[in-house]
Amino acid sequence: MHLERPLKKEILRFSQKLYQKGYVANHDGNISVKTPRGIWATPTAQSKGDLTHEDMLVCVNSEGKQIAGKQKVFSEINLHLIAYTLRPDIQAVVHAHPPKATAFASCGQSLHPPFIAEAIVTLGDQIPLVPFMLPGCPDTQKTLSNFLPYADVLLLQNHGVLAVGTSLEQAYYRLELVEHLADIEWHAKALGQVKPLPDKTVQKLLKKRQEIGLGRPHKDSSIVTHTPNDVEKSLNQIVEEEVRRLLR
Ligand SMILES: [Zn+2]
Repeated sequence: MHLERPLKKEILRFSQKLYQKGYVANHDGNISVKTPRGIWATPTAQSKGDLTHEDMLVCVNSEGKQIAGKQKVFSEINLHLIAYTLRPDIQAVVHAHPPKATAFASCGQSLHPPFIAEAIVTLGDQIPLVPFMLPGCPDTQKTLSNFLPYADVLLLQNHGVLAVGTSLEQAYYRLELVEHLADIEWHAKALGQVKPLPDKTVQKLLKKRQEIGLGRPHKDSSIVTHTPNDVEKSLNQIVEEEVRRLLR
């Protein structure tokens, strides 16, 4: 059980980051991490900024039944359980209400498909907007099954952002990047229109993303293999930086 200690410290660390970054208010937001013993998660009715000790965390089994921890698990745990069911490859889920991304989601507006090369390598070429679901709604799994197999981050309409990853760090930084892109798009729209990257470049970046094991199955695009040498070179550099970051 002592092996879980570093992991619990990570949950506390990223809970603090959610709070400090202003991605949550009140008791909003939640984090979970899958382990062989169960799913460790933040408790309900606590500000993420107040989570300071591992004893404050809770553990549930795959059905959501609490198996450890003195506090109670949050009610949105179902969202996390469904994510683990739909994505057996992931180990962590982070959910929060970062203001800019949630503003887009609350207006029923999708974010522009990622328009910065690094973001395409990290997130892919889509950040789907999931139609509004009431908490605990029985259709949640059916709805998410239309999106989560194809994307690592989702905008939840009138709600917030859900990010998944093979580690907590990866899931958290994906969520952070979504908010950053929403912020950039916010400013870009004040100046004019976002210019999308050329489709060939996007396809090449997606291919690289797949090669480093980040890619999700894509619904409707075939991978284009040819790009000019200079583009190829700069794309390789971006991918190498991403790999270095992941292996850090
Ligand atoms: Zn929420």
